[in-house]
Amino acid sequence: MDSEQFKAAARDMVDYVAGYLDTIESRRVVPDLQPGYIKELIPDHAPEDAEPWSAVLGDLDRVIMPGKSSPACTELEMVTLDWLGKLLELPDEFLFSASGGKGGGVIQGTASEATLVSMLAAKTRMVKRKKSENPDLTDIDIIGKLVAYCSENAHCSVERAGMIAGVKMRLVPSDDEFRMHGSSLDEAVKEDLAKGLIPFHVSATLGTTDCCSFDDLLSIGPVAQKHELYMHIDAAYAGAAFICPEYRHLLNGVEFADSFNFNPHKWMLVTFDCSALWLKNSSEIVDAFNVDPIYLKHDQQGLVPDYRHWQIPLGRRFRSLKLWFVLRLYGAKQIRAHLRKQIALAERFAQHVKSDARFDIPVKNHMGLVCFRLKELY
Ligand code: PLP
Repeated sequence: MDSEQFKAAARDMVDYVAGYLDTIESRRVVPDLQPGYIKELIPDHAPEDAEPWSAVLGDLDRVIMPGKSSPACTELEMVTLDWLGKLLELPDEFLFSASGGKGGGVIQGTASEATLVSMLAAKTRMVKRKKSENPDLTDIDIIGKLVAYCSENAHCSVERAGMIAGVKMRLVPSDDEFRMHGSSLDEAVKEDLAKGLIPFHVSATLGTTDCCSFDDLLSIGPVAQKHELYMHIDAAYAGAAFICPEYRHLLNGVEFADSFNFNPHKWMLVTFDCSALWLKNSSEIVDAFNVDPIYLKHDQQGLVPDYRHWQIPLGRRFRSLKLWFVLRLYGAKQIRAHLRKQIALAERFAQHVKSDARFDIPVKNHMGLVCFRLKELY
């Protein structure tokens, strides 16, 4: 869209909103639809090719308005996260449509929230497990011993999640390419078990903030399984690139994870905030946060996810609309082209830096990140 097309699209949208206000008295107050209605109206895959704005705008009346904010807000989020999950080739267990309702995706505000939510689910899981093994234990006995793990190169939000969740955090050393491996995780977990602590969660990073390194999921996964740790993957920045087949191999090992997160608002052209989190077993998060007062009850309970139980706030914005718009207005092909162009630009920049004797590139560049330094300072 160039600026003229954008102005025309923005005018269309203002006209649409004004038209809604002009006709509000003739509209239904509550929808008369059954849960699942959106699936019947839109495809089950994101489009490969871009669609025109007129098609997207037209679908507001056809798809969204009959379901107003609810259930449309929930159902569009379910469908668009399945679309995105399929583009990433996530295992079926993470998709609503293929997991039999056990797994699925949800939009959080940030990667920090996604990590925290995963840690709270893991904490509830471990507290329950320990209490079932030994009913004399209290929550305090268990929580005081919980330890979560991440690499020393993980984003500080993981450490912060540990602080908010009230658990110990252990930073696992990474190798000389700044990657965490299963062997060092295994060593750390065994040391903590020997001290009587309770390892319960590991957060692996794909695309670390400082140098875009990738933890070794294929060795971390089996260690997490062996020690019954909840495994979360934080791919806040780099995750978008996995929709390109040439980078998808970096996600191999996701099948071991309990949850996977990346931020479409970072590198996938969606405006802030839109952080996509997929879970294999959503009931673990629901169990961690569930409150069910009378004023939140409704007659469709249990038929579609109640996303308020999948996050920290109860209220939600209609964030899937912008994800739906971006996926349709660009199409997967143009989003891949955008990511590839940025990676090529980073490579070109790295070549310029390499040809200048004053600078050096201390770590291999990955994706769109080039780390360089002035030689005379080192
Ligand atoms: N994880 C990684 C790897 C990041 O690079 C970042 C931010 O740059 C975050 C987490 C935190 O992201 P957010 O601001 O969405 O919480």
